Amino acid sequence: MKFIDLRSDTVTQPTQEMREAMYKAEVGDDVYGDDPTIRELEEYAAHLVGKEASLFVPSGTFGNQLALFTHCRHGDEVILGDDCHIVAHEVGASSVIAGVQLRTLQSRKGALDPDEVRSKIRGEDIHFPRTGLICLENAHSNGRVIPLENMEKIYGIAREHGIPVHLDGARLFNAATSLGIDAAEIAKYCASVMFCLSKGLCAPVGSMLAGSSSFIEKARKGRKLMGGGMRQAGFLAAAGLVALKKMRLRLKEDHDNAALLGRELAKIPGIKVFTDDIQINMVYFDMRDTGDDGSKLVKELLKEGIKINGPENGIMRFVTNYWVTKDDIMHVVDVIKNVLKAA
Ligand SMILES: *Cc1c(COP(=O)(O)O)cnc(C)c1O
Repeated sequence: MKFIDLRSDTVTQPTQEMREAMYKAEVGDDVYGDDPTIRELEEYAAHLVGKEASLFVPSGTFGNQLALFTHCRHGDEVILGDDCHIVAHEVGASSVIAGVQLRTLQSRKGALDPDEVRSKIRGEDIHFPRTGLICLENAHSNGRVIPLENMEKIYGIAREHGIPVHLDGARLFNAATSLGIDAAEIAKYCASVMFCLSKGLCAPVGSMLAGSSSFIEKARKGRKLMGGGMRQAGFLAAAGLVALKKMRLRLKEDHDNAALLGRELAKIPGIKVFTDDIQINMVYFDMRDTGDDGSKLVKELLKEGIKINGPENGIMRFVTNYWVTKDDIMHVVDVIKNVLKAA
């Protein structure tokens, strides 16, 4: 059965072109530096985001945590938003792997207040931890694209204090698409950036961590320590190259579909769509006024071949992706209308 899957863009299957590229990929032992496809991917990815070098890593979480581990010393403090992925969805890894302390600032719809960032940077005092890193996230997993001016200000403050900035750019290319600029224009406000190949870009596995040559050299050793030294990973890189060269250029379709989905859902009585938050491929909404918070809807839609996640803190999220067409969107809206009518 073909499902319409709106749970996430991580559910995307590789495209036929990716499967063929994987089948034909020339590979080698990448720990020896022998994999030409990995090398091509790492060079291409670095170039795309305007950095000297990049490294293929197994997941976005791996890439973020490797960045923390590479930038920081044990006991350092990292300044970041209280709702960012590193804080909320990485299983507390930063205390396990990098051994850092997280100093969370109240996120303002995903953005940090530059003045607050400045005020939280530690001075010299025998009692204080060292501020080792500032982390930003763009696009934010709340669906919003953080304005470049905000990133620029924080980057400037960080530079004044000699503190690096890491960007969690899991959906960096969604942000770039939304802003209508090159990803490098966003990544110029950070020392290192992680972005995922395996979300809306449809690659089966993998993320990239990019930065200066010396940073990536150090990260390569850290990746080995974390068990991420992969051998003939060129099969995955082959799909990653298709992701970056081709799938990156069509993300606007997903954004347009999300906007359409948001508009249609908003017409249904009892559903409140957070329209301002539809900036990439995500639609957040509150349907509690229909009498169902979404828990029942999950089961009803599954019967109709539509997969969605249940509510988190009362809020529902649908994510569009390559495998969900405009017709699928209209079909989902019709099914939801029928389910709610029957209830
Ligand atoms: C998905 C995501 C990650 C982590 O990626 P995984 O490959 O799932 O580990 C990190 N940051 C953000 C903002 C994400 O959305």
